Amino acid sequence: MAEADRGTADWTGEEDALVEIRDLKKYYPVKGGILNRKVGDVKAVDGVDLRIREGETLGLVGESGCGKSTLGRSLLRLIEPTGGTVTFDGEDVTAASKSRMRELRREMQIVFQDAASSLNPRMRVGDIVAEPMEWLTDLDEAERRERTRTLIEEVGLSEEHLGRAPHTFSGGQQQRISIARALSVDPRFIVCDEPTSALDVSVQAKILNLLDDLQDEYDLTYLVINHDMSVVRHVCDRVAVMYLGKIVEVAPTERLFADPKHPYTKALLSAVPRASREAVDDRIVLGGSPPSPENPPSGCRFHTRCPAVIQPEDYEFDQAAWRAVMDLRQRLDEDELGLEAIRERVAAESGSTDGPDDVPDSAVRSAIRTELGLPERLGDPAAERTLREGLALAVEGEGERASELLGSAFATVCEEVEPPIETLADGRQCACHLYD
Ligand code: ADP
Ligand code: MG
Repeated sequence: MAEADRGTADWTGEEDALVEIRDLKKYYPVKGGILNRKVGDVKAVDGVDLRIREGETLGLVGESGCGKSTLGRSLLRLIEPTGGTVTFDGEDVTAASKSRMRELRREMQIVFQDAASSLNPRMRVGDIVAEPMEWLTDLDEAERRERTRTLIEEVGLSEEHLGRAPHTFSGGQQQRISIARALSVDPRFIVCDEPTSALDVSVQAKILNLLDDLQDEYDLTYLVINHDMSVVRHVCDRVAVMYLGKIVEVAPTERLFADPKHPYTKALLSAVPRASREAVDDRIVLGGSPPSPENPPSGCRFHTRCPAVIQPEDYEFDQAAWRAVMDLRQRLDEDELGLEAIRERVAAESGSTDGPDDVPDSAVRSAIRTELGLPERLGDPAAERTLREGLALAVEGEGERASELLGSAFATVCEEVEPPIETLADGRQCACHLYD
């Protein structure tokens, strides 16, 4: 975090890591049916590799639901991973016994977003801060009390606060208490899961500064989970970007913000409000919401929304038109073209007394094109012929055949092959076929 530590930003993960995550997976069972049997899995974290260097602050960003909290918790074994390994200072945490895990808890702590609900309302602040020491250390009561007093001041509160109940404090103060509690056992690594997201902006900055000061003083390594890119930019040395259970890009913070490589990172960054006006015009708006982690897309998980999705070799598309063709294919695959609704709308808009069934197919085809943002005709005549054939089938109610036709004619590597995460020339890591 501190300027002097910026050297860590160039770290590519080749040297020893304090925390090393390999192929980590966490699936939550989905139950259903009258017998409430397992019918599937939410693949919240699905094969994550990540290395965290001693003393650095690594940011973890991505849309809500992409698996950030699950990753943070399963790497600490607060929830049991489904697969993969985590090593801490060379030791396999995932294989640690219960008693060894208790010892490791001293080294690895977590601070949650919602301080209010993570602080026991029936306990006094002094006991809340001291409790982990009681569980996890050999300190006697006098030593625990002494350390509690030191810590409460360290986080910007004072000794008089120790006798009070947590609900008598503001959100920012409650987060200070949680931080003191996490620090009580003298950890080396802290996962901060959206530590300031519930706080007012002015308070956020104070808490972030506090975390920064404590990092230097206590030699801490942080994983800071945050959906707010401006927070990440301020506090992190490196940033890992997560999409639907996978890491798609890891880069030093400034490099990531100045020159994002993964199309998902670009979209995330372009959505960040900026003071300058030019930013508004090149804002990338991602279509739809993230797909379900229960049934993630094949190949690259981002291909269903990616503005830069790679075109098939034999055609020349305008990129926006190609994205629209992909959207059409997806709607057909999912049987969600909404043909009935389109017919009804076209009938209503025509102003005639004709019902939906009287609407000519040609009008339905052009309504589909308009709805999906497909141009009146594609620039590439061969692609246009195939698209027309597909649209004709779809409008005739042959959605499945249309889907097959367009799927085989317009296949893209992005849906067929999962891009491995690779180290690029500048040392960053990126999982995208554009950089194969
Ligand atoms: P994030 O922190 O990035 O918002 P989470 O890790 O909380 O994401 O969630 C990732 C996915 O896992 C989401 O689809 C979420 O609904 C699901 N999920 C989280 N916790 C559970 C749980 N205990 N049981 C089932 N599904 C869960
Ligand atoms: Mg979360």
